[in-house]
Amino acid sequence: MTAAVMYAVGDVRIEQVDKPEPGPGEVLLKIAYCGVCGSDLSRMFESGPHKLPLICGHEFSAYIAELGEGVTGFEIGELVTVPPMIPCFKCPPCVQGEFSLCEDYDYYGSRRNGAYAQYVAGPAHLLLKVPQDLDPRAAAMVDPAAVALHAIYRTKLRMGDRVAVMGGGGPIGLFSVQWAKLAGAGEVVAIDVSPDKARLALEAGADRATSSNEELEPLIGKGFDLVIETSGVPVVEDLAISITAR
Ligand SMILES: [Zn+2]
Ligand SMILES: [Zn+2]
Repeated sequence: MTAAVMYAVGDVRIEQVDKPEPGPGEVLLKIAYCGVCGSDLSRMFESGPHKLPLICGHEFSAYIAELGEGVTGFEIGELVTVPPMIPCFKCPPCVQGEFSLCEDYDYYGSRRNGAYAQYVAGPAHLLLKVPQDLDPRAAAMVDPAAVALHAIYRTKLRMGDRVAVMGGGGPIGLFSVQWAKLAGAGEVVAIDVSPDKARLALEAGADRATSSNEELEPLIGKGFDLVIETSGVPVVEDLAISITAR
Protein backbone atom coordinates (compact mmCIF):
# COMPACT_ATOMS: atom_id res chain seq x y z
CA MET A 1 0.00 0.00 0.00
CA THR A 2 1.03 3.62 -0.33
CA ALA A 3 1.82 5.46 2.90
CA ALA A 4 3.49 8.65 4.12
CA VAL A 5 6.23 7.28 6.37
CA MET A 6 8.00 9.58 8.80
CA TYR A 7 11.68 8.74 9.44
CA ALA A 8 12.77 11.84 11.33
CA VAL A 9 11.53 15.35 12.09
CA GLY A 10 10.96 16.91 8.67
CA ASP A 11 11.67 13.64 6.82
CA VAL A 12 8.36 12.20 5.56
CA ARG A 13 8.45 9.96 2.48
CA ILE A 14 5.66 8.60 0.28
CA GLU A 15 6.49 4.91 -0.04
CA GLN A 16 5.14 1.45 -0.76
CA VAL A 17 4.89 -0.55 2.48
CA ASP A 18 3.25 -3.82 3.52
CA LYS A 19 -0.47 -3.69 4.21
CA PRO A 20 -1.01 -4.23 7.97
CA GLU A 21 -2.49 -7.56 9.12
CA PRO A 22 -5.39 -7.32 11.58
CA GLY A 23 -4.65 -9.36 14.71
CA PRO A 24 -7.26 -11.11 16.87
CA GLY A 25 -9.97 -8.61 17.83
CA GLU A 26 -8.75 -6.14 15.23
CA VAL A 27 -10.02 -5.00 11.85
CA LEU A 28 -8.28 -3.83 8.73
CA LEU A 29 -9.57 -0.39 7.76
CA LYS A 30 -9.42 1.12 4.28
CA ILE A 31 -8.91 4.82 4.89
CA ALA A 32 -11.56 7.08 3.38
CA TYR A 33 -10.34 10.48 4.60
CA CYS A 34 -7.82 11.71 7.14
CA GLY A 35 -7.52 15.20 8.60
CA VAL A 36 -4.29 17.08 9.24
CA CYS A 37 -4.25 17.93 12.94
CA GLY A 38 -2.17 20.75 14.41
CA SER A 39 -0.49 18.04 16.47
CA ASP A 40 0.47 16.18 13.27
CA LEU A 41 2.28 19.28 12.04
CA SER A 42 4.31 19.71 15.23
CA ARG A 43 4.89 15.93 15.41
CA MET A 44 6.18 15.76 11.84
CA PHE A 45 8.07 19.03 11.63
CA GLU A 46 9.03 20.11 15.17
CA SER A 47 8.87 17.79 18.15
CA GLY A 48 8.84 14.27 16.69
CA PRO A 49 6.68 11.27 17.68
CA HIS A 50 7.06 8.52 20.28
CA LYS A 51 8.55 6.05 17.82
CA LEU A 52 10.15 6.02 14.39
CA PRO A 53 9.57 5.17 11.63
CA LEU A 54 5.90 6.07 11.92
CA ILE A 55 2.83 6.65 9.77
CA CYS A 56 1.06 9.72 11.23
CA GLY A 57 -2.62 10.67 10.98
CA HIS A 58 -5.29 10.08 13.63
CA GLU A 59 -8.44 11.95 12.54
CA PHE A 60 -9.86 9.57 9.99
CA SER A 61 -12.85 7.79 8.56
CA ALA A 62 -12.53 4.36 6.99
CA TYR A 63 -14.35 1.39 5.50
CA ILE A 64 -14.07 -2.04 7.11
CA ALA A 65 -11.87 -4.08 4.78
CA GLU A 66 -11.16 -7.25 6.76
CA LEU A 67 -12.25 -8.72 10.09
CA GLY A 68 -9.59 -10.20 12.37
CA GLU A 69 -10.17 -13.37 14.36
CA GLY A 70 -13.15 -13.20 16.72
CA VAL A 71 -14.55 -9.89 15.44
CA THR A 72 -18.33 -9.75 15.10
CA GLY A 73 -20.87 -6.97 14.67
CA PHE A 74 -19.23 -5.33 11.68
CA GLU A 75 -19.63 -5.80 7.97
CA ILE A 76 -17.12 -5.39 5.18
CA GLY A 77 -17.57 -1.97 3.60
CA GLU A 78 -19.16 -0.36 6.67
CA LEU A 79 -18.17 3.29 7.28
CA VAL A 80 -16.59 3.87 10.70
CA THR A 81 -14.35 6.27 12.57
CA VAL A 82 -12.24 5.93 15.73
CA PRO A 83 -11.33 7.75 18.89
CA PRO A 84 -7.59 8.04 18.17
CA MET A 85 -6.59 7.14 21.72
CA ILE A 86 -6.57 3.46 22.63
CA PRO A 87 -6.72 3.12 26.43
CA CYS A 88 -5.30 0.01 28.15
CA PHE A 89 -8.54 -0.56 30.13
CA LYS A 90 -6.42 -2.05 32.96
CA CYS A 91 -4.56 0.75 34.80
CA PRO A 92 -6.16 2.50 37.84
CA PRO A 93 -7.46 5.57 35.88
CA CYS A 94 -8.91 3.27 33.19
CA VAL A 95 -10.65 1.13 35.83
CA GLN A 96 -12.24 4.34 37.15
CA GLY A 97 -13.40 5.25 33.65
CA GLU A 98 -10.88 8.10 33.31
CA PHE A 99 -9.60 6.84 29.98
CA SER A 100 -7.95 10.13 29.00
CA LEU A 101 -5.63 9.69 32.02
CA CYS A 102 -4.60 6.15 31.00
CA GLU A 103 -1.06 5.35 32.10
CA ASP A 104 -0.34 2.96 29.22
CA TYR A 105 -2.31 4.10 26.18
CA ASP A 106 -1.72 3.59 22.50
CA TYR A 107 -2.52 6.28 19.91
CA TYR A 108 -3.02 6.17 16.15
CA GLY A 109 -0.41 8.18 14.30
CA SER A 110 1.75 8.81 17.35
CA ARG A 111 2.50 5.56 19.21
CA ARG A 112 1.21 3.19 16.52
CA ASN A 113 0.79 3.63 12.79
CA GLY A 114 -1.97 5.98 11.71
CA ALA A 115 -3.98 6.89 8.66
CA TYR A 116 -1.67 8.73 6.27
CA ALA A 117 -1.87 5.47 4.36
CA GLN A 118 -4.33 3.39 2.38
CA TYR A 119 -4.93 0.98 5.25
CA VAL A 120 -4.56 0.83 9.02
CA ALA A 121 -5.28 -1.99 11.48
CA GLY A 122 -6.84 -1.38 14.88
CA PRO A 123 -9.02 -2.77 17.67
CA ALA A 124 -12.64 -3.42 16.71
CA HIS A 125 -14.11 -2.68 20.15
CA LEU A 126 -13.30 1.04 19.82
CA LEU A 127 -14.74 1.57 16.35
CA LEU A 128 -17.53 4.11 16.08
CA LYS A 129 -20.19 3.28 13.51
CA VAL A 130 -21.48 6.39 11.76
CA PRO A 131 -24.63 6.85 9.65
CA GLN A 132 -23.74 5.11 6.41
CA ASP A 133 -24.93 8.03 4.28
CA LEU A 134 -22.75 10.51 6.20
CA ASP A 135 -20.13 12.29 4.08
CA PRO A 136 -16.91 10.38 4.93
CA ARG A 137 -15.09 13.73 5.14
CA ALA A 138 -17.43 14.70 7.98
CA ALA A 139 -16.94 11.29 9.63
CA ALA A 140 -13.19 11.98 9.67
CA MET A 141 -13.86 15.06 11.82
CA VAL A 142 -15.54 13.25 14.73
CA ASP A 143 -12.40 13.50 16.92
CA PRO A 144 -11.85 17.29 16.64
CA ALA A 145 -15.62 17.85 16.84
CA ALA A 146 -15.65 15.83 20.08
CA VAL A 147 -12.78 17.91 21.49
CA ALA A 148 -14.85 21.08 21.07
CA LEU A 149 -18.03 19.43 22.39
CA HIS A 150 -16.13 18.27 25.49
CA ALA A 151 -15.14 21.91 26.13
CA ILE A 152 -18.82 22.96 25.93
CA TYR A 153 -19.80 20.14 28.32
CA ARG A 154 -17.29 21.49 30.85
CA THR A 155 -19.07 24.86 30.95
CA LYS A 156 -22.41 25.98 32.37
CA LEU A 157 -23.61 27.37 29.05
CA ARG A 158 -27.20 28.59 29.38
CA MET A 159 -29.73 29.54 26.73
CA GLY A 160 -29.07 33.05 25.48
CA ASP A 161 -25.52 33.32 26.83
CA ARG A 162 -23.08 35.54 24.96
CA VAL A 163 -20.13 33.39 23.93
CA ALA A 164 -16.72 34.38 22.58
CA VAL A 165 -14.53 31.81 20.83
CA MET A 166 -10.84 32.65 20.75
CA GLY A 167 -9.11 31.15 17.73
CA GLY A 168 -12.66 30.95 16.42
CA GLY A 169 -11.55 30.37 12.83
CA GLY A 170 -9.31 27.38 13.57
CA PRO A 171 -10.65 23.81 13.37
CA ILE A 172 -11.50 23.45 17.07
CA GLY A 173 -12.77 27.04 17.09
CA LEU A 174 -15.10 26.41 14.15
CA PHE A 175 -16.56 23.38 15.91
CA SER A 176 -16.88 25.39 19.15
CA VAL A 177 -18.84 28.08 17.29
CA GLN A 178 -21.25 25.47 15.91
CA TRP A 179 -21.69 23.59 19.20
CA ALA A 180 -22.26 26.86 21.12
CA LYS A 181 -25.03 27.83 18.69
CA LEU A 182 -26.59 24.36 18.91
CA ALA A 183 -26.38 24.51 22.72
CA GLY A 184 -28.48 27.67 22.73
CA ALA A 185 -25.98 30.54 22.90
CA GLY A 186 -27.66 33.87 22.18
CA GLU A 187 -24.70 35.41 20.42
CA VAL A 188 -21.41 33.85 19.37
CA VAL A 189 -18.46 36.10 18.59
CA ALA A 190 -15.45 34.49 16.93
CA ILE A 191 -12.07 36.13 17.46
CA ASP A 192 -9.15 35.14 15.25
CA VAL A 193 -5.92 36.89 14.25
CA SER A 194 -6.49 35.87 10.63
CA PRO A 195 -9.21 37.82 8.75
CA ASP A 196 -9.62 34.83 6.39
CA LYS A 197 -10.24 32.48 9.31
CA ALA A 198 -12.60 35.00 10.92
CA ARG A 199 -14.66 34.87 7.71
CA LEU A 200 -14.77 31.07 7.97
CA ALA A 201 -16.23 31.44 11.47
CA LEU A 202 -19.08 33.51 10.01
CA GLU A 203 -19.73 30.72 7.52
CA ALA A 204 -19.81 28.26 10.43
CA GLY A 205 -22.57 30.29 12.06
CA ALA A 206 -20.83 32.87 14.26
CA ASP A 207 -22.99 35.98 14.68
CA ARG A 208 -19.92 38.17 14.49
CA ALA A 209 -16.27 37.57 13.77
CA THR A 210 -13.34 39.89 14.18
CA SER A 211 -9.59 39.89 13.84
CA SER A 212 -8.92 43.37 15.20
CA ASN A 213 -8.88 44.77 18.73
CA GLU A 214 -10.69 47.93 17.57
CA GLU A 215 -13.59 45.87 16.25
CA LEU A 216 -13.62 43.65 19.33
CA GLU A 217 -13.76 46.50 21.86
CA PRO A 218 -17.42 47.54 21.29
CA LEU A 219 -18.50 43.87 21.15
CA ILE A 220 -17.27 43.12 24.67
CA GLY A 221 -20.01 45.09 26.44
CA LYS A 222 -20.15 43.89 30.06
CA GLY A 223 -18.09 40.88 29.11
CA PHE A 224 -18.95 37.50 27.64
CA ASP A 225 -20.80 34.93 29.76
CA LEU A 226 -18.57 32.25 28.35
CA VAL A 227 -15.20 32.40 26.61
CA ILE A 228 -13.77 29.34 24.89
CA GLU A 229 -10.03 29.56 24.21
CA THR A 230 -8.81 27.25 21.45
CA SER A 231 -5.54 28.87 20.35
CA GLY A 232 -3.28 27.88 23.26
CA VAL A 233 -1.35 31.14 22.82
CA PRO A 234 -0.58 32.69 26.26
CA VAL A 235 -1.39 36.28 25.24
CA VAL A 236 -4.77 35.10 23.89
CA GLU A 237 -5.45 33.29 27.17
CA ASP A 238 -4.89 36.62 28.97
CA LEU A 239 -7.27 38.36 26.57
CA ALA A 240 -9.85 35.60 27.13
CA ILE A 241 -9.87 36.28 30.86
CA SER A 242 -10.03 40.05 30.39
CA ILE A 243 -13.18 39.88 28.21
CA THR A 244 -15.07 37.49 30.51
CA ALA A 245 -18.04 38.94 32.43
CA ARG A 246 -17.81 39.22 36.20
ZN1 LIG B 1 -5.90 15.71 16.40
ZN1 LIG C 1 -5.14 2.59 31.13
